[in-house]
Amino acid sequence: MARSRLLRAIHCGGVTSRSPLRLPNICACAPSQGPVGRGIPTIMEMVVHTRLDCALGSAGLMRQAVRVATHYTSQREAFGARLVKAPAMKAVLADLVVDSEAAAQLALYLARTFDDCRDEAAAKAAGHESFKHAQAFRRLAVAVSKYYITKRCPGVVYEALESIGGAGYVEEWEMARHFRQSPLNAIWEGSGNVIALDILRTCGKEPLALQALLARVATTSHVHPALRKHVKALTGLLTREDARSLQDPLYARYLVEHLALALLGHALATVASAPQAAARSTDVLQHWGGRHLRGGSADGDLHLPTAFFGTVAPPQAGGSADHIARITRLLDHEVGIIKSAAA
Ligand SMILES: Cc1cc2nc3c(=O)[nH]c(=O)nc-3n(C[C@H](O)[C@H](O)[C@H](O)COP(=O)(O)OP(=O)(O)OC[C@H]3O[C@@H](n4cnc5c(N)ncnc54)[C@H](O)[C@@H]3O)c2cc1C
Repeated sequence: MARSRLLRAIHCGGVTSRSPLRLPNICACAPSQGPVGRGIPTIMEMVVHTRLDCALGSAGLMRQAVRVATHYTSQREAFGARLVKAPAMKAVLADLVVDSEAAAQLALYLARTFDDCRDEAAAKAAGHESFKHAQAFRRLAVAVSKYYITKRCPGVVYEALESIGGAGYVEEWEMARHFRQSPLNAIWEGSGNVIALDILRTCGKEPLALQALLARVATTSHVHPALRKHVKALTGLLTREDARSLQDPLYARYLVEHLALALLGHALATVASAPQAAARSTDVLQHWGGRHLRGGSADGDLHLPTAFFGTVAPPQAGGSADHIARITRLLDHEVGIIKSAAA
């Protein structure tokens, strides 16, 4: 039992009613939650659930922001017409609607994988080879989805805020708070690099997880031509003889981003190809695929979607030593400026 004294609640941006608490480090003791020496596996059992929360939370925040943007632009008139009818605004709103819906569908797909992991029968009914297979898939799928959805969230919320104009930035509206809240889930439960490194470790140490994910996404890739190319190129990259060199942390974000696109495409394709699917599901898949998948070049290479920062392609996927040397030079220069300013 931890015994401690509250020092203060730390003021945070966004939702302020659940601030982290600052506790002095006195007499803090707690029962062990797992066997000694098995700390990471023990915490991973908890983290797999809280990462799902992060993915669902960010998808929900995107949906809320996009709903506000669509509502506002349906009412507001500028230059004699409703904003929602202005061609340039229509294009922005459609992208927002699709990115938000894609995030929601991936998060819900992910939630269903928890049902698949109930027992052997549930795993097999969901099309997995075994319970172990379903668990390995979930472990990787949750991390990959959490990385992607939570990183996509601030961009979507920002663009939704901008479509409301100045009103989006004032505290009388809810958007300013959503904007401040939007990066939090990407920091919690494994910040970008930490989660990308965790995914790299999982791919290296638990080959079943990667096999399960690649097998799963292959089942629906035929539904969209660019998705099929993406999955084929990614599988080719990850199953090459020299694939172990992809374990370099420099390429972690590249791999995670491409795994996420494959998984998100799979989630959308699963919905779009269901017998009872509405025509809208196909529109969502088509629009999302056109926006986010390059589909591989003629030689099958995957190219950078560069949706996020820090994406470096490995040599097997067209990355160059020049690019890496430039990164080092650019950062060394920046650090040099900081050091000389501090001296
Ligand atoms: C509002 C709020 C509530 C919170 N509530 C809780 C709570 O209830 N319980 C709790 O335990 N914690 C809580 N936290 C803490 C939170 O979990 C941590 O802030 C988060 O895990 C990041 O850790 P850190 O702040 O120590 O960052 P650091 O570990 O210092 O990381 C800084 C940056 O470096 C990157 N990085 C780290 N290691 C590497 C590496 N090897 N290579 C490359 N990049 C790396 C990270 O991705 C990150 O971008 C809360 C934080 C906030 C903001």
